[in-house]
Amino acid sequence: MNANNNEVGALLGGGRLVGCSSDEEPGAKTMIFSQNVIPNQLVSNRSSEFMNRYFPLTTLESWNDWKWQLRNAFTSLEDLRKIMKLTQKEILAINNLKGRLPLRITPYFASLIYRSKPTHPLRRNVVPVVEELLEGRMEQSDPLHERAYSPVKGIVHRYPDRVLFTVTQVCSNYCRYCTRSHSVGRLDKLGRQDFEKAFSYIASHREVRDVLISGGDPLTMSDELLDYILHNIRKIEHVEIIRIGTRVPVVLPQRITDKLVSILKKYHPLYISLHFSHPDEITEECANACIKLADNGFPLGSQTVLLKGINDSVPVMKELMHRLLKIRVRPYYLYQCDLIPGSGHFRTTVKKGLEIIAGLRGYTSGYAVPTFVIDAPGGGGKIPLLPDYVVEHNSERIVLRNYKGDLCEYPEK
Ligand code: SF4
Repeated sequence: MNANNNEVGALLGGGRLVGCSSDEEPGAKTMIFSQNVIPNQLVSNRSSEFMNRYFPLTTLESWNDWKWQLRNAFTSLEDLRKIMKLTQKEILAINNLKGRLPLRITPYFASLIYRSKPTHPLRRNVVPVVEELLEGRMEQSDPLHERAYSPVKGIVHRYPDRVLFTVTQVCSNYCRYCTRSHSVGRLDKLGRQDFEKAFSYIASHREVRDVLISGGDPLTMSDELLDYILHNIRKIEHVEIIRIGTRVPVVLPQRITDKLVSILKKYHPLYISLHFSHPDEITEECANACIKLADNGFPLGSQTVLLKGINDSVPVMKELMHRLLKIRVRPYYLYQCDLIPGSGHFRTTVKKGLEIIAGLRGYTSGYAVPTFVIDAPGGGGKIPLLPDYVVEHNSERIVLRNYKGDLCEYPEK
């Protein structure tokens, strides 16, 4: 463990629990544990308790194996009922997900919500409710018109100097407000030929200096496939930076292994855009994963979707931004929720987003204030929004209002 990992480890307190068998079914009966400390294998008391109860034959090594986490993810009503008391609204929604964004929750993330109330912010992120089945006015399955900007499979080329490369449709957890709910969770995999065509497209567009690898979640892919993708992009001379968009450190922190880090490190400058929605997502495990990435030189930014009942208040948003900075993640964007079908129960007014920015700017470090944007419906790109700080602006002067409401004047000439 390095010094920063030790800092996180110190949050844990005493010894950890280690199981003795590898059976992985929830609800199994045998339970034999001993106390032990395994370097770089972090399991909080909360997760240990959950593991003892629902995966009693599972070893700590299995719990910390990201592939075990994916294999044992909760994907059906039957699975989820074993660990949570579900409401009628949740049951009805899960029973009607056919053809929609699937259900998937890693055991790790389930350990954060299994005792929660139905209104718990983290539960609302991943457990559907019946409102999700209702389509509202102006909602569309592909609100950002990504398909229209896709010259070859997997590539979205909307902005002049950069492309989005959606390399997989798989995520470890499915967020109920996902912008790409029209495509993620489907079995529409890219084959080698698709990858080769995408690399050729980037190579033949010399204006592309920035490639954002996203999905789905790229970090659910194997180390070998990630290495292959990154290698082929990095060898294109005009690509200056690569970015990876992922929610894995939040929902599957076990994936941030030494081997993964050693692969990613070969492709610097590599930026990692994380996706957080609530301060309670920042557990010891998540903090450890982010700090490990930061220690290895990856600049970390965070994107947050503004969600009703989850993070739509100044205190919650401020707490999230402060906790992010403490684990070396720089708040980047705050998104107005996109107009995907069944998102009405998640969407706030735009005014609410502006109020939150006004409640942050000036009241906390500038680093803790993300840029509030609307991703324009129809594919117009991200448009930044600011509270009204300009009172008057003409050829002579600009009159501005500061965060406390005081006016000041600045000359134009
Ligand atoms: S992790 Fe990202 S791509 Fe996957 S469901 Fe959540 S928002 Fe969508």
